[in-house]
Amino acid sequence: MVSNPKLKGQSALVTGANSGIGEAVAIALGNEGANVVVNYITHPENADAVVKKIESNGGSAIAVKADVSKEDEVQSMFQQMYQKYGTIDILVNNAGIQKDSAFENMTLEDWRWVINVNLTGQFLCSREAVREFLRRGVVPERSSAAGKIICMSSVHQIIPWAGHVNYATSKGGIEMMMKSMAQELAPKKIRVNAIGPGAIKTPINYDAWSTPEAAEKLLTLIPYKRIGDPEDIGKVAVWLASDESDYMVGTTLFVDGGMLLFPGFTENG
Ligand code: NAD
Repeated sequence: MVSNPKLKGQSALVTGANSGIGEAVAIALGNEGANVVVNYITHPENADAVVKKIESNGGSAIAVKADVSKEDEVQSMFQQMYQKYGTIDILVNNAGIQKDSAFENMTLEDWRWVINVNLTGQFLCSREAVREFLRRGVVPERSSAAGKIICMSSVHQIIPWAGHVNYATSKGGIEMMMKSMAQELAPKKIRVNAIGPGAIKTPINYDAWSTPEAAEKLLTLIPYKRIGDPEDIGKVAVWLASDESDYMVGTTLFVDGGMLLFPGFTENG
C-alpha cells in the first residue's frame, strides 16, 4: 500500500475484476487503502489471485461471484459486500463482453447478451450502490461525496465500430446512462463519471495486439504509438474515485493514447 493512501477506509466494488482492466483497477484501489470486492463470473482462481495480490500489498479484499446481468445475483453480491465491509463508497462498473459478427448475421441472443452485461449490468449495480449511498449519506472523514460511480465505457461511445454493432451500442448507451444519472444524483452528492479506454492489452482484444503484425496495424490508430496497459486505467480510476476529482461530475475521461484524434488525418487526410 502507498504511504499516504487516498482511499483509506473506503469500500469499493469492481465488477469483472479477475481479468484485464478490472483486475488492474481492483489492485490500484487496494493499493490506495480501499477494501475491495473482486467480482467475477468464471475462473474463481483468478479472482482469488487478485484478492491475494491486494492482501500481499497490505490491503483487504474478498472475491464474490455474480453475473452482473442478473438482478438477484447483483443484489446478493451487494449483501455479501455489506456483511464484510458494512457499506459501499466506490462502484466501478467494469464487466464487459464482445460478441462480434457481421450485422446481418448477428443473432438476437448475441445482441441481448452484450446489452445485458455491458449496459443492464451497469444499471443494476449502479442502482444498488445508489440506494446505499442515499441511505448512508456523506461520511466526511472518508470522502466529500456520498458515493462515486465509475462506468467503464470505451472510445466506441464515440467511434462507430463495424462488426461490433451490439458492443458499440452498449457503450453509446453507457454514455447517456452515466450523464443522466450524474445529473439526477449530483444534488445528492453522488458523483457519476466514466472512463473511455482506447486499446488496452487484455484478453478481450488479444487478437488485436498479440502478434507483431496485429500490433503494428493497431498502432496506426494510436498517435501516441503505444498500446495501453491495464495499469494506465487503474491510475485514472483511483483519481476519479478520490476527492482529488471532487468537482468531476458526468464526464468521460478518454484514456486512449490519442485514438479519438482522427489519426487517419495525420498525413493530411
Ligand atoms: P476482459 O475480458 O479481460 O475482462 C472482462 C471482465 O468482465 C472479465 O473479468 C469477465 O469475467 C467479466 N464478465 C464478463 N461477463 C460478466 C458478467 N455477466 N458478470 C460479471 N462479470 C462478467 O476485458 P477488459 O478489456 O479488461 O474489459 C473490461 C472493460 O473495459 C469492459 O467493459 C470493456 O468493454 C472495456 N474496454 C476495454 C478495452 C480494451 O482495449 N481492453 C477498451 C475499451 C473498453
